[in-house]
Amino acid sequence: MGSWRTRSLWTSRAGSPGEPEPLGGTRVADVVVVGAGFTGLWAALALVEADPALEVVVLEAKAAGYGASGRNGGFAMTMVGRNLHDLLRKVGPTRARATHLAMREQLHEIRAFCDREGIACDLQAPGLLTVSNGPEQDHRIRQDLEAAKRLGLDDLEECSGTQCRALVDSPRIRLGHFEQDCLLVDPAALCLGLREAARRRGVRVHEASPVLSLAETPTGVRARTPAGEVHADRAVLATNAYAAAVPALRRFLFTVYAYIVVSEPLDPGQWARVGWSTGVGVEDKRIMPHFHRPTPDGRILWGGRDAPIAFGPPDPRRDRDPRVFRRLEESFRWAFPQLADVAIVGGWGGPVCGTVNCFATVGFLGRRERICYALGYAGHGVAQSRLAGLIVRDLLLEQRTERCELPLVTKAPVPLPPEPLGRWLVGGAQRILQEVDDRQDDRPALARLALAALE
Ligand SMILES: Cc1cc2nc3c(=O)[nH]c(=O)nc-3n(C[C@H](O)[C@H](O)[C@H](O)COP(=O)(O)OP(=O)(O)OC[C@H]3O[C@@H](n4cnc5c(N)ncnc54)[C@H](O)[C@@H]3O)c2cc1C
Repeated sequence: MGSWRTRSLWTSRAGSPGEPEPLGGTRVADVVVVGAGFTGLWAALALVEADPALEVVVLEAKAAGYGASGRNGGFAMTMVGRNLHDLLRKVGPTRARATHLAMREQLHEIRAFCDREGIACDLQAPGLLTVSNGPEQDHRIRQDLEAAKRLGLDDLEECSGTQCRALVDSPRIRLGHFEQDCLLVDPAALCLGLREAARRRGVRVHEASPVLSLAETPTGVRARTPAGEVHADRAVLATNAYAAAVPALRRFLFTVYAYIVVSEPLDPGQWARVGWSTGVGVEDKRIMPHFHRPTPDGRILWGGRDAPIAFGPPDPRRDRDPRVFRRLEESFRWAFPQLADVAIVGGWGGPVCGTVNCFATVGFLGRRERICYALGYAGHGVAQSRLAGLIVRDLLLEQRTERCELPLVTKAPVPLPPEPLGRWLVGGAQRILQEVDDRQDDRPALARLALAALE
């Protein structure tokens, strides 16, 4: 599992995921889950917690956390869609409020679960500071604050530039808002912790077991791996960007590559130059934002900005991109000129699943409702995957809960235009947004046009 260890700072800290137990022979189960990232593991846990008698088998191509779940920034946030304003605009006040509250609940449940299960994932709850670095970003901060007010939510606190800079001292920050409900975790450790929690409840997790085919049979579904197969009543497809291999899903999803760089550990004098004493997670208000946070071993993690798009299944050769790393370092230097003596020492990336309107989606493949998929959180899946896992359970066990009325289920994904138009449209809009972001928002009309093309 050498390649697992080199996926990210988090997987290298975790060392080894342990010896895999590949699937061998034929196994019968109630549910087979494909993919052992957050989505697959939360779904498996939700299923056995609802009914401990269920036989659940998880099949993972590599190791738990090999995908985006072991490589992300570790921000578990309430965000669904692009931001709160976007959520309200797209689904209306009743469903936006219900979605936000459901997300808030996920954060509390993730924390409680880690406490109960003793999952050591360096979980912190320092809150999320969203900052503006330019006039158009000021506007977006105000839009979110107004949306929160309209929804009767009191969890976004307006912050002046001085208040923001007291939390993290970047001379570029103009103003912002603070939300207490945000966790920072070591995502690879969380993922391995979920795997072990699932195993303790009798879920069989077979790693090094890529599913070569998942097909409906007259009595259920069959998942084939190189050395075995699982016959199950139902299946969960939790393969994130890798789901682009499924033609019916390829109609509305694409792959987005997200990247992160990290600094060397800072010494106390260097930390004193940025403050950051509460360790708050920070995101800016670019359309394709930067996110940054301290790591448990005293580094600064700096990610976001470029998010190149591709069509078709992920290409592991794109997990590292020196050009994107250079651009991330450039923006780190821009934000923190006082840290010129802090070296950027590494970087990594990973594929996430994007959708045209930036909404995740949970639903069934095929009319027989035997295969349930959950994907499309783009860069906001750490907490959404738990909600998606619960929804998957509700749908598979035919329990029509309030969760099944949330936009993740009811908002149909926007289909991509046929090729090559889809590629041109999404790729073109993405390039315009990147340019607008890089020019510090001096062309908001163009940005609105490009965003409209993505909706
Ligand atoms: C650099 C980066 C930074 C990010 N930062 C954040 C953040 O700070 N906060 C946030 O909320 N989100 C963030 N995200 C997004 C977040 O990581 C994802 O949305 C989330 O992890 C998706 O989880 P998942 O389980 O759906 O997918 P994944 O974790 O990608 O899991 C899918 C799994 O399926 C397996 N698989 C694929 N094909 C097969 C097959 N045929 N058979 C068996 N197994 C298969 C893969 O090996 C993989 O392990 C970031 C992502 C990246 C890449």
